[in-house]
Amino acid sequence: MSQLNKEIALYGIPGSPGVSHGPVFRFLHGDVEVPQYQVSESEQESELERFKDSVAITRTQIEGIRNEVAKNLGEKEAGIFDAHILVLEDKALFVDIEKEIKKTGDNIEQCVYRVTQRYHDYFNQLEDEYLRERAADLKDISKRLLRNLIGETAAGTAFLGEPRILVSEDLSPSDTASLDRSKILGIATDTGGRTSHAVIMARASGVPAVVGVRGLTEKLAEGDTILIDGFEGIAIINPSESTLFRYGKVGLQRNKIKDLFAGEISLPPETQDGLKIHFLANADTSEEVKSGIENGCVGVGLFRTESIFLSRNQIPSEDQQFEEYQKLVMAADGKPVTIRTLDLGGDKILDSIGREKEENPFMGFRAIRYCLRNPSIFLDQLRAILRVSAFGSVKIMFPMISGVEELVRAKEFLFTAKRQLSEKGVSFDNEIKVGCMIETPSAVTICDMLADEVDFFSVGTNDLVQYLLAVDRINNEIAYLYEPHHPAVIRSLKHIFDVSKEKNVEVTLCGEIAGDPHFLPLLIGLGLDTVSATGILLPELKFYGRRFTLQEAQSLAERIKPMKRPSEIKVCLKDFYDDRISDLIK
Ligand code: PEP
Ligand code: MG
Repeated sequence: MSQLNKEIALYGIPGSPGVSHGPVFRFLHGDVEVPQYQVSESEQESELERFKDSVAITRTQIEGIRNEVAKNLGEKEAGIFDAHILVLEDKALFVDIEKEIKKTGDNIEQCVYRVTQRYHDYFNQLEDEYLRERAADLKDISKRLLRNLIGETAAGTAFLGEPRILVSEDLSPSDTASLDRSKILGIATDTGGRTSHAVIMARASGVPAVVGVRGLTEKLAEGDTILIDGFEGIAIINPSESTLFRYGKVGLQRNKIKDLFAGEISLPPETQDGLKIHFLANADTSEEVKSGIENGCVGVGLFRTESIFLSRNQIPSEDQQFEEYQKLVMAADGKPVTIRTLDLGGDKILDSIGREKEENPFMGFRAIRYCLRNPSIFLDQLRAILRVSAFGSVKIMFPMISGVEELVRAKEFLFTAKRQLSEKGVSFDNEIKVGCMIETPSAVTICDMLADEVDFFSVGTNDLVQYLLAVDRINNEIAYLYEPHHPAVIRSLKHIFDVSKEKNVEVTLCGEIAGDPHFLPLLIGLGLDTVSATGILLPELKFYGRRFTLQEAQSLAERIKPMKRPSEIKVCLKDFYDDRISDLIK
């Protein structure tokens, strides 16, 4: 346990709302989870043999790296790998692992993990800087040993006996896509921001998350429990009885509020003076579409298709995609569905396609840029979407458009896909509506030109904020600058909504601010009437939407117009919310 099992509270960024408490599951980045199961006494010898084999493989790998480093950087730099090899050769390590397996009867991966973790914790608390650095070496070796033990078919979270809180330095969308979410009580990471895709996915499945908690994994030790407060962005290691009691009360209060919101789910979604607000759902999977429907959405405003690729870790065929989109359309139960074409890149990396690592992935070879350069992948997807349009109300949307030419080329691909299907006599909706995301500053500036090419816009504020303010959306060092309340963002939104009206193009907003109730009256006041948010957030949005008038929303937007500071705007939105809601949820 951490020093004397002491309570340590650490502050990060609220990722996904909710509070949960439980044992820690240390997720080792790189798709390695540490399985735990009992082995019989007679199997212990073969478990130890497996350990010896993994030491031998690890040693060969480290020697290979050592030689490369020596060749490229010199002997001095290669020296650190000698230290790694010394650790592997340490007899004490083997003896301790042998003792652990005899004592606990657990599988070898667990024993290696626990013993190396104990060594790590010991070195990490020493005064001597040189010895402290050995803690990092141990961590490295331990990961490598475990990876070699577990092999390429890394054991999934399905191996977890009891549900736990996943703690990791970082978490990629492909990590999240392959988790068994029923075994995960919550997520806490050292890095990441509110709109990292892993966090968006956690939010969609109702898993509480806190991200950007600097130094969290360093402070954890074996046997620790952790409480995460995804509302406030707090992670508490080894919470005391009184902390747990306090949070127990918070949990009860939250449940009461949830019931209150849910009670109005079937009431008309409109402002007090009758402006109809259209609440759509964002989804990554057909399960999330079902959750959107249960929470009263009138359609799916954003179906992110990347999940289908990431969870398989490969490019699915046209038929495989068709099956997935069919499930989605069935889940939507006759309601319209907007399917977005592939937005790989940024933080959504598909290891299996072996792309070059990019210096600036969010500004790089992403989304529509990738699809336009990979015609067969793009056409497979377009045909799959078109085929499913014969079975329901389907729209198609292109991500990360930054200019008219790109949009026109994407539409040409769509035309080709239609022609290919027609030639084979396959039916589809020839009048399928086509839209594009407005999520780059250039798209905002020329949205009048883009409007001539599409039927609808969907504003992606997650990216728009990062590009407009030049703040990487997943970098927690600069998370304080990632500010959707920035006047530049609000002015851009106003411009998009005005142009959409002028050009008679439908507009939706599907970035994460759509699910933040505080923003709702501002968006309505700026001229929007359709938002698309994670299903489980809809009841609160609908409840709040019924507690102000259009006129009040418009005067709120007017009041905010001259405000220069994001903090001022944030307070103004919070006051407006509290004024209408706080008495009801006391
Ligand atoms: C956005 O950028 O706001 C958006 C909805 O798309 P994504 O989060 O998938 O980039
Ligand atoms: Mg985006």
